[in-house]
Amino acid sequence: MLRTHTCGELRIEDKGQQVTLCGWVQRLRDKGGVVWIDLRDKYGITQLLFDEGSSPKELVELAKGVGREFVLSASGVVIERLSKNDRLPTGDIEIKVEKLQVLNSSKVPPFIIEDETDGGEELRMKYRYLDLRRGPVRGNLELRHLVNRKTREYLDNNGFTDIETPCLIKSTPEGARDFLVPSRMNPGEFYALPQSPQTFKQLLMVSGFDRYYQIVRCFRDEDLRADRQPEFTQIDCEMSFVEQPDVLQMFEGLVKFLYKEIKGIELDDFPKISFEEAMKRYGSDKPDLRFEMKFVELNDLTQGKGFSVFDSAELVVGINATGCGGYSRKQIDELTDFVKKPQIGAKGLVYLKYNEDGSLKSSVDKFYSGEDLKAWVKAFEAQPGDLILILAGEKSQTRKALSELRLEMGSRLNLRKENEVRALWVVDFPLLEWDEETRRYHAMHHPFTSPKPEDISKLKHDPASVKASAYDMVINGVEVGGGSIRIHDRSLQSAMFDVLGFTKEEAETQFGFLMGAFEFGAPPHGGIAFGFDRLCALFGGQDSIRDFIAFPKNTSGRDVMIDTPSPIDRHQLDELYITSKHIP
Ligand code: ASP
Repeated sequence: MLRTHTCGELRIEDKGQQVTLCGWVQRLRDKGGVVWIDLRDKYGITQLLFDEGSSPKELVELAKGVGREFVLSASGVVIERLSKNDRLPTGDIEIKVEKLQVLNSSKVPPFIIEDETDGGEELRMKYRYLDLRRGPVRGNLELRHLVNRKTREYLDNNGFTDIETPCLIKSTPEGARDFLVPSRMNPGEFYALPQSPQTFKQLLMVSGFDRYYQIVRCFRDEDLRADRQPEFTQIDCEMSFVEQPDVLQMFEGLVKFLYKEIKGIELDDFPKISFEEAMKRYGSDKPDLRFEMKFVELNDLTQGKGFSVFDSAELVVGINATGCGGYSRKQIDELTDFVKKPQIGAKGLVYLKYNEDGSLKSSVDKFYSGEDLKAWVKAFEAQPGDLILILAGEKSQTRKALSELRLEMGSRLNLRKENEVRALWVVDFPLLEWDEETRRYHAMHHPFTSPKPEDISKLKHDPASVKASAYDMVINGVEVGGGSIRIHDRSLQSAMFDVLGFTKEEAETQFGFLMGAFEFGAPPHGGIAFGFDRLCALFGGQDSIRDFIAFPKNTSGRDVMIDTPSPIDRHQLDELYITSKHIP
């Protein structure tokens, strides 16, 4: 070993010891006769001391010549510091250096490599290997390692077998576009990268593995939103001979175990809310339950009084921003601007202030009597000092907009506390979703999800009303996982493909292998997958998953460090039988 200790471990008890440390120069302070260097490695920082009074001149000169991020080996004796630093675990001591070796020099780094950096996102990503030297980013990856280990521990203890599935496969529809890989050996043919191992894990159930898991990379070619990555990691699981409650119990258990082991938090049992209830009460299928502020629908109380905006609306719905009755004109204007932003899309905002003195003031006083307004207040069970905010319009769009406003108010009122954890299951999703553009049904989860047994008979004549045995786990407004009980019967799977608008031939070419397997004794089965990156970000108390991935892509799907995607050689294209007018 080139070192006797790490930069994080020496304490006052080690005083007098002869040691050798290796690490990077974090900082150098040259006070003329005395030079201090903060030497850093992943374990911590230790201060090195060079003193002209008692050290050879060449040694001090050598120390003065090093720059930030130089790699050093320093040998010397542990001494007590004159001025201690109680913010550092090693802050009581320093090393009086007797021998210094520069193991490597460094160019001046493009940004400061400390917990707080001056580097912007793009620069940090271009020099990610330097960014990863910073404590907080490294800490995130260490947390990720811990979440991975604890997940494996729980699943291993519960009889799950980790099985790898292939990366070069045939398309699995999870609702996104596939990344494709041309096959050199099969001209004109392509593999797809898995959007998830869905069909393989189901086949493993047919094989009798009973309980499978994999912490696995998935690939989806989607337009990237802030918190999406084209490749991401799932904790992917499947179980045989189970019903929905069994799966929920097993994986609620996993998440409770992780919170306990990693955060020391004991979670209560997760409530179950139907999709319908979630949409009606929170306008979202991933409600943040850290605060109430439930929707109250007001059609009955507001329509037919001559206010055309409400009269013509499919839905009139509001929330009670408790304690906001004192909001100024300006604050209310801000909220109005917020809901009118194009991403939110509301046309306007109606408010009703319940003043501390009991009087009522609304933005639609012209149309509604005092009695009318009192009825609204009652519907919300509002108290003096509250502020009721109301939106109106087409149902799903209005719910979505009010959901955004609810979250905004939650943040403004500081009700979305970082250290509070509210987990729930959203259940009873519709099986299908109508897509106006393609004029056909899409599977809301994926085509392998089973309809609720009692709804199977409606699949042909009333598909829109069929509910699925599908579930999502939501924590603090973030969908962390989702899954379903699967179809394990050939004829039902085939009927499902019919409803989704596949011809028999299309279904056979794409999924014949799965339907074929169902004919050889497929057991009833179901499972779930968690977004691993997102789960880690949640444990790390951050919104973005990017800093929980060692080498992430940016929002345009680029890795700016290795500079990819990038053009390839004509020759390589020829070899893959790819010619296209789009390639220069
Ligand atoms: N394969 C699904 C997904 O990626 C999860 C599941 O149904 O188990 O969302």
